[in-house]
Amino acid sequence: MGSKHIVLAGGGHVHLGALVHADQFVRQGHRLTLVTPGPFHYYSGMGPGMLGGTYEPRDLWFNVEKTAKDRGAEVVFGRVTAVEAQNRSLVLASGQRLEYDIASLNLGSEIPGSEKFSPDSGIFPVKPIDNLLAARHALDRALKLKSGSPRVVVVGGGPAGAELCGNILKRILDQGGKPQVILAAGGQLLQGYPDKARRLVLKSLTSRGAEIIQGPLARDIAPGRVGLEDGRSLEADLIFLAWGTRAPRLLAESGLPVSEDGSLLVNRHLQSVGHPELFGGGDCVTLSDRRLDKVGVYAVRENPVLWQNLLAKAEGRPLISFDPGGAYLLIFNLGDGRGILRRKDLVLSGRALFRFKDWLDRRFVRRFQVSGEAVDS
Ligand SMILES: Cc1cc2nc3c(=O)[nH]c(=O)nc-3n(C[C@H](O)[C@H](O)[C@H](O)COP(=O)(O)OP(=O)(O)OC[C@H]3O[C@@H](n4cnc5c(N)ncnc54)[C@H](O)[C@@H]3O)c2cc1C
Repeated sequence: MGSKHIVLAGGGHVHLGALVHADQFVRQGHRLTLVTPGPFHYYSGMGPGMLGGTYEPRDLWFNVEKTAKDRGAEVVFGRVTAVEAQNRSLVLASGQRLEYDIASLNLGSEIPGSEKFSPDSGIFPVKPIDNLLAARHALDRALKLKSGSPRVVVVGGGPAGAELCGNILKRILDQGGKPQVILAAGGQLLQGYPDKARRLVLKSLTSRGAEIIQGPLARDIAPGRVGLEDGRSLEADLIFLAWGTRAPRLLAESGLPVSEDGSLLVNRHLQSVGHPELFGGGDCVTLSDRRLDKVGVYAVRENPVLWQNLLAKAEGRPLISFDPGGAYLLIFNLGDGRGILRRKDLVLSGRALFRFKDWLDRRFVRRFQVSGEAVDS
């Protein structure tokens, strides 16, 4: 088939597989290039724990630059802003164009409106996950400046908002502070989750001093203030945005076939339904025959199928199919030493479940920390 240039856009959970197997592409005579905004990718499942201080960056980051380069791949630092599928090229924010024979998109999802806010202004969108490290430093500074009682508002009452709120409480209490933390849930806390999960989360957060506001949406956000639609104005030293995610807009703007939520439509080979040389996985794609939740579990399950299909496509071999598998479980870490497990309608909680989550998370991270990350500080 000859040598192919394969470009990986984004070094997220799905592309980690292709990166650790990059040498297989190179050995077959192919060129592999990773486009990434920075050298590190953080595992989201341990992000709230990093905010609370349970984890250090070395516990959850992957040095995607080193992993790629050590295996003969090239790395371009930048952000993809457009996919020109007809010309087989990716356009980067710098204006650079990267031509490909095969490309794969692992661009994750965006927090709507987050482009207007930055950690420098005390407003922390929950993604990218490294924002949570900057937020931890800012929280520690605010704890000193505000005599242990900084005002924090978390906007968004889904699992991410609840986990952030719980871990902010942990950080403040661990340093002897007095929490003034509000979770502005937007609608109902953990909408769509079983009542038992909602009760357990509510208890964990309120028993440590958080105030939960359910109902009014946040209408306007500015440094130092969250305005709610019922007219209330919440003063805040730090604001966290966890009000949901959306597909990267560049997919629809590039004229690619997308689902109604703007994600790249792919078949079971994780291949664009409109462009056979374009692949993708994780939050930025939707299967054409089945809607999956946008959770990391699926990104992780897609990971081996995607890299094997990229190599198979380059070699002209048949592609394999992705099977999403059965129900998945989520375990929330609210920073109180306990885990809250949800699998469909089953909800359990306890200390052993946090230990189980910790074990699962560390096991996943170890598989892809192949570049000495665990010893770096
Ligand atoms: C706080 C939090 C906790 C979570 N906990 C869990 C959990 O416990 N279990 C679970 O299943 N799910 C969890 N999720 C959901 C999970 O994070 C996502 O489903 C998962 O990250 C999707 O993986 P991905 O590889 O598609 O995207 P990502 O992990 O977001 O990776 C995308 C990568 O692409 C890069 N990128 C983005 N844009 C561009 C661009 N334009 N050009 C080049 N590169 C780009 C990014 O830098 C990033 O490295 C959590 C989410 C959050 C916010």
